[in-house]
Amino acid sequence: MSKRPKAKKRPQILRSVATLRQALAPYRAKGETIALVPTMGALHRGHLALVADARKRADRVAVSIFVNPTQFAPTEDFGSYPRRLEADIKALTEAGVDAVWAPTALAMYPPGFATRVAPEGAALAGLEDKFRPHFFGGVATVVAKLFTQAQPDFAMFGQKDYQQLRVVTQMAKDLDLPLKVIGLPTVRENDGLALSSRNLYLSPQERAAAPTLYRVLKACAAAIKRNENIDAILNIGRGEIESDGFALDYLEARHALTLAPVASRKDGPIRLLVAAKIGKTRLIDNLGV
Ligand code: AMP
Repeated sequence: MSKRPKAKKRPQILRSVATLRQALAPYRAKGETIALVPTMGALHRGHLALVADARKRADRVAVSIFVNPTQFAPTEDFGSYPRRLEADIKALTEAGVDAVWAPTALAMYPPGFATRVAPEGAALAGLEDKFRPHFFGGVATVVAKLFTQAQPDFAMFGQKDYQQLRVVTQMAKDLDLPLKVIGLPTVRENDGLALSSRNLYLSPQERAAAPTLYRVLKACAAAIKRNENIDAILNIGRGEIESDGFALDYLEARHALTLAPVASRKDGPIRLLVAAKIGKTRLIDNLGV
């Protein structure tokens, strides 16, 4: 007998809503629970941490890979966003995923498509929405579709995209979608940089500067815990980010659930959120206080 470890089973690759439903129906018929991990592909350890949690929580795991055109503005990186489906499928095979939902743009948005989800609340907090006004409408619409297509019991999202996690959680609640949205911690490089598919864009010099964002978040969180003045702390942080070569979009302290502005720790649990461009690459990060 060969001592080689048994090759893992390749997940089913589904490209249409009908084949996705066919693939998942037998699981549901057996009473198995299903977790969905929505992604745009170019998978890294952050995505795989969501998959690992999904495997613990549910009997079956589906991962969606779809670079969603409606959440990109015409000036953004939709065309150049990294696409590496074969490598992603290999990683998901190793991770023990059951199904990969990789719809074509036509399957997701067939001719005549005319309905959108328009999130409010956290989606209008003046953070990502201020710089990417199209973004949360695109995300909420595609995630609502993913949820109704796969009908999962659980859906895993990263805290890395914190405002998105709040928006999706609220949307599932508001639309009475029968699933539990699970938010999971940000996976980071050793130097603190949050893993992101967009880190592939960074030049060596930009990559060297990128950990500044997390360093500043940590310093601000520590100062807020010492009850120093939040505005003053954030202004120092903003200066540090800019002096390290970033064009800052925002560095803000917000209520961790509503994302409303906070003046002091008495206003509730605080989340620090940052977005900044280095060269052509826009990075975001956040940290709980
Ligand atoms: P994306 O492919 O960038 O749309 O991300 C798909 C999912 O993975 C989202 O829920 C992200 O928040 C999550 N994610 C991305 N990067 C990380 C990370 N470094 N740690 C944890 N989750 C992440």
